[in-house]
Amino acid sequence: MTTIALIVAAGRGHRTGRDLPKQYIDLAGKTVLARTVDMFLKHAGIDQVCVVIHADDAALYNAALADRNVLPWVAGGDNRQASVKNGLEALVPLNPTRVLIHDAARPFVSTQLIDRCVRALDHVDAVLPALPVTDTLKTVVDDRVTGTLDRTQIVAAQTPQSFSFEPILAAHRMFSQLAATDDIALAEQAGMAVRTIDGEPENFKITTGDDVIKAEKQMTEQLTDIRTGQGFDVHAFIADRELWLGGVQIPHDRGLKGHSDADVALHAVTDALLGAIAAGDIGVHFPPSDERWRNAESHMFLSHAGDLIAAKGGQISHIDLTIICEEPKINPHRPAMIARIADILGLRQDRVSIKGTTTEKLGFTGRREGIAAQAVATVRLPE
Ligand code: MG
Repeated sequence: MTTIALIVAAGRGHRTGRDLPKQYIDLAGKTVLARTVDMFLKHAGIDQVCVVIHADDAALYNAALADRNVLPWVAGGDNRQASVKNGLEALVPLNPTRVLIHDAARPFVSTQLIDRCVRALDHVDAVLPALPVTDTLKTVVDDRVTGTLDRTQIVAAQTPQSFSFEPILAAHRMFSQLAATDDIALAEQAGMAVRTIDGEPENFKITTGDDVIKAEKQMTEQLTDIRTGQGFDVHAFIADRELWLGGVQIPHDRGLKGHSDADVALHAVTDALLGAIAAGDIGVHFPPSDERWRNAESHMFLSHAGDLIAAKGGQISHIDLTIICEEPKINPHRPAMIARIADILGLRQDRVSIKGTTTEKLGFTGRREGIAAQAVATVRLPE
């Protein structure tokens, strides 16, 4: 028995006000489409995932899903129903038993909801996740109210709408002129028995710009595992070398000694981020013995740490960096360093703090022998 998730991502909707179709919008470091696809890829009850896209979006699609193990994409049609039909036809050679048809713009589909869809297919050929309607529903013509609907007989339809493969394929072939806005409508036309299961309010469809903001908020609220990491680093001054600090080149009579560009500030931030996800230290990821990292630009180390957090579905909440030295003065370079670190990590600048301090001429920093840096990072991860 093979169960395939068919993700419908062929829409061109620009109602979000962004310059991208909504399924390719970035949501806290990952596209809406990638978040949706990942929920099905990681579900044990789903064997394969196939995405229907607009042919013009192939580059966006490839960038969004990168090296994920999905079936080749399928080009959509003139409307949603035609797109789903193209997807189903492309799956025929794989001879699937069941198909879960899901909107790409619903990235909050839960593992439990997918479970309920798959289990319900043991009993019927068509399954609809549905929500009760709480508002009273009116019929209107222009601005004139013409009646009141009995809401006890009405539900709001969600996806994944889930089917035995053969009958829903037959319904799509038979009623291809219907231009239905969901697949259950075709099952109804074909006389299939349709059962509802509980949908989930969180599983809403991103349509407008407000929905994008709501989705970002909901995404952050789901990251309840809050971690703190700290990092510390020291590099000695050396003559005849550029000084790189906080990702910025600073005019100075000496630079810092090290295998890489010796950006002590970025090293401390990188270690703080690695610490927050318990992923070792910078030397584990970029061994100083490795010739590849000779004179390496330290922004590579920092963006690698950011990528590891994004791969866990996490977000960086805040970075607080203290640079400890008698010289150079930190304050004139603070805005450029903040901008650079925020840019490397894809953060708002108000999530990056940089402070400078001296050690009152005490110790190695006081003797101007080198620079020390320490950083604290706060990271939010899913449970
Ligand atoms: Mg270092």
